Amino acid sequence: MTNIKVRFAPSPTGYMHIGNTRTAVFNWLLARKLGGKFMLRIDDTDVARSKKEYEDALRDVLQWLGLTWDEEARQSARLDRYNQVVAELKSQGRVYACYETAEELEVMRKRLMSRGLPPIYDRGALKLTSEQIAAYEAEGRRPHYRFKLNEGHIEWNDMVRGKCHYDASNLADPVIIREDGSYLYHLPSVIDDADFGITHIIRGEDHVTNTALQVQMFEAIGGKVPEFAHLPLLTGVEGKLSKRLGSLGVRELREEGVEAMAISSFLAKLGTSESIEPFYDLDSLASTLDLSKLGRSQPKFDVEELKLFNTHFVRNLPFAKVQERINVNEDFWNSVRGNLERVSDVAVWEQICLQNINPIIEDKELTDCAAGVLPPEPWDADTYSKWIAEVKTVSGKTGKNLFHPLRMALTAEAQGPELKVLLPLMGRERAYKRLMGITA
Ligand code: GLU
Repeated sequence: MTNIKVRFAPSPTGYMHIGNTRTAVFNWLLARKLGGKFMLRIDDTDVARSKKEYEDALRDVLQWLGLTWDEEARQSARLDRYNQVVAELKSQGRVYACYETAEELEVMRKRLMSRGLPPIYDRGALKLTSEQIAAYEAEGRRPHYRFKLNEGHIEWNDMVRGKCHYDASNLADPVIIREDGSYLYHLPSVIDDADFGITHIIRGEDHVTNTALQVQMFEAIGGKVPEFAHLPLLTGVEGKLSKRLGSLGVRELREEGVEAMAISSFLAKLGTSESIEPFYDLDSLASTLDLSKLGRSQPKFDVEELKLFNTHFVRNLPFAKVQERINVNEDFWNSVRGNLERVSDVAVWEQICLQNINPIIEDKELTDCAAGVLPPEPWDADTYSKWIAEVKTVSGKTGKNLFHPLRMALTAEAQGPELKVLLPLMGRERAYKRLMGITA
């Protein structure tokens, strides 16, 4: 069996957002499921737009999500290797120099379009004589380079889209090196995928046409064509994934209390035939990964839905998975988690149960009476119901008239976990004082 290896290849030109996070999650899960390796590749050939700050933030988010990598590479450190491959491809006639300016290309494109033809580059550069080239060079024109596609069919069996098929004659030779000598995405990506032995590539369906071009590049450099899976792109609730949503930062979600595993659970199942359920570790999520369950239509991504899911996630979050981040014990956590929206909200109940609050006395007669009949400790499972029965009998109050003033005195909050649960957490002394209207 081949050694499975996938990669996540972000360009450090922006922060991690929902779209590229989903790609990272799928690749990581596939590696884990197949017992393979996950590589982080920094696609920083665009020197002007790549920033260290973005790269640091990308790494930070990946770590937070638990999407750790076994290996990493940086494209800007591999330019010698790319140049070496390009030299070889030039000698084979698969890479050729072009001298058209951007304006000239635009005119050609418009002319073709106006005749109802696809805007495919006419390979005019291949017909240039050496005199013409010398003249361009003398004019100060610098060449850009294209990869020459071979005629014929390009096919692959996509893990999501099934059989994919392109006719090379419908595709333009892609520019691979700009006039200033910098590399465009296509070829370095293929060289890296081949050199690092990438076996599976999961990425957005906006890359489908790139894949067609890249299949020929793999063949040209003698690399093994990996397996591909193209994920349908996410759309926003109002149709196209708006700029705001598409670039919705994972850092911001984290700051708002959305849990890392809630994000991974949500993104891994969105747009599949499976329901979105909380998974509390990546391994168990990985074992359920099945790319054939992904639909072909573009799933809607709604951040409000993610936040609601996060609440559901937190309310069922096992103590063992949160223990290190909170100060309360298991009993406390299990008692209050059903009322939390975010893990950090546990601090509110910690304050209420373990620190001082100012009680709100709405019905002094009732709360005085409740304090009077509060049983001595130790308390057991029946203490609360016995106490409430006693308060009912003595005060004659029931329902909201009974529970609301008790809650306001004990917690100073109109809502929260059951009093039955809170009372033992705060203990008799504190409960007694609060019922008596004393800050405690
Ligand atoms: N750096 C490319 C991107 O961010 C990688 C695409 C790929 O996965 O090949 O779109």
